[in-house]
Amino acid sequence: MHHLDITALEARYGTHTVLSGIDLSVGRGDVIGLIGPSGSGKSTILRVLMGLLPPASGSVKLDGETVDYANARELRRLRDRIAIVFQQYNLFQNMTVLQNVTITPIKIKKRPKAEVEEEAKALLAKVGLGDKLNAYPDQLSGGQQQRVAIARALALRPEILLLDEVTAALDPELVSEVLDSVRLLAREGMTMMIVSHEMGFIREVSSRVVFMANGRIVEEGPANVIFDAPTQTRTRDFVSKIL
Ligand code: ADP
Ligand code: MG
Repeated sequence: MHHLDITALEARYGTHTVLSGIDLSVGRGDVIGLIGPSGSGKSTILRVLMGLLPPASGSVKLDGETVDYANARELRRLRDRIAIVFQQYNLFQNMTVLQNVTITPIKIKKRPKAEVEEEAKALLAKVGLGDKLNAYPDQLSGGQQQRVAIARALALRPEILLLDEVTAALDPELVSEVLDSVRLLAREGMTMMIVSHEMGFIREVSSRVVFMANGRIVEEGPANVIFDAPTQTRTRDFVSKIL
């Protein structure tokens, strides 16, 4: 059984179909690198998985169980299991780093404060911010803030982490510190779907790379095949432009 099974997924914004015929299976510990031109539907896949956009048709299964996106209770449970980090980290400016990471598990999930804080400190240490617990977001660089956002997502104890261009808004010299944290998660076996324009990173970290265009999966395979020997013309055109 796969960790995540997406079958014949279709999504629309109004009457505009933006995803069609999406079939994708993600195994436990897989890291899926999602690449493709702007507007190809990468973010939309992640939005649908999170229940931020209801699928028009098709199914998503988590550990073999079909997710009912129309059911609010199931949606809440789903968001305990899948977390997402966006390009814009949107930290609470009036809270410390530690508070940003612990607020949801404590206030919404009603978990014991001491346990949550201990876990949060370990997560922040893991992303290299063990010495910034009491700092405020505006005292941190963009790369540090994005690492807080990653720790905040992990504090929800997700089984699957979705990353949508988490380094796209960062100054170039801050990109690698964020990617280092993601690399560490990959090594630890976190199941992830990563949208990124950092092709060297995608190539290195992905167990499988998925190339999308016009709302469809054009081709998927191991990184070396997609980047060095793609079978589809559109994939070849895309990778020849970006490498
Ligand atoms: P990508 O992340 O690959 O750049 P997106 O998933 O954001 O692509 O977008 C896929 C398509 O959906 C594009 O044609 C885009 O214009 C359209 N789209 C994205 N968000 C919205 C929205 N909120 N309303 C209407 N159309 C949207
Ligand atoms: Mg996008």
